[in-house]
Amino acid sequence: MVQGVGFRDAAARRARELGAKGWVRNEQDGTLVAHAEGPEDAVRAVVHFLHDGPPLARVTEVTTDGVAVEGHEQFAIRGVSAGAFVVQEHAATAHHFDLRLEVDGVMRSWAVPKGPSMDPAVKRLAVEVEDHGRTHNKFEGALGDGRVIVWDRGTYEQGGRVAWPEALTRGHAVFVLHGEKLHGGFALQRTRPGAKPQWLLIKRRDDYAQPGSDIVAERPDSVLSGRSLQETGK
Ligand code: MN
Repeated sequence: MVQGVGFRDAAARRARELGAKGWVRNEQDGTLVAHAEGPEDAVRAVVHFLHDGPPLARVTEVTTDGVAVEGHEQFAIRGVSAGAFVVQEHAATAHHFDLRLEVDGVMRSWAVPKGPSMDPAVKRLAVEVEDHGRTHNKFEGALGDGRVIVWDRGTYEQGGRVAWPEALTRGHAVFVLHGEKLHGGFALQRTRPGAKPQWLLIKRRDDYAQPGSDIVAERPDSVLSGRSLQETGK
């Protein structure tokens, strides 16, 4: 493409008008490189504009590449409000945290031995366990030989390109939590199928990520009673 005809500014202006996000820059070899993301129609219209160019531009060739943008592409389907989530800390034979996500009226559940993390570098084992009823979400107190506190709760959105519950069936599910302690994007990635499927729970890189943090240690108290599991006693 030919530079010096206001192509870059014109392309950026047109992209903004179309509701696309991204950037545009002039390369030393005279080409103009643009990255556009947003609604499919808007991106297509930006590409169309690049083919035509502004007045005076002589466009010789336009090539397009799809790019995977971390934290964007994965949330192509977003804003699907899905219902409740809860994390219950459970002192049992083995201490763990139960992550429960409301899916089709039941709470799909994973036992997370070390609990969730807000650090995207940390991968936490999450063992899929039996579904629970929604009424259990508020449960706090003695349970068998152990005890439970509601460590976090809130609502969540189902994300990703694959709709739920298909995403869970396929073994890769991304979601956005709106809790009192946990916020932002997370992913559940199944690593081992079978009777007790094993998954990894991973914080996605976004504005809510807290590299180096240990939220389980930093925020031990129940969001219901304000007491920690230790204080709850037996
Ligand atoms: Mn449990």
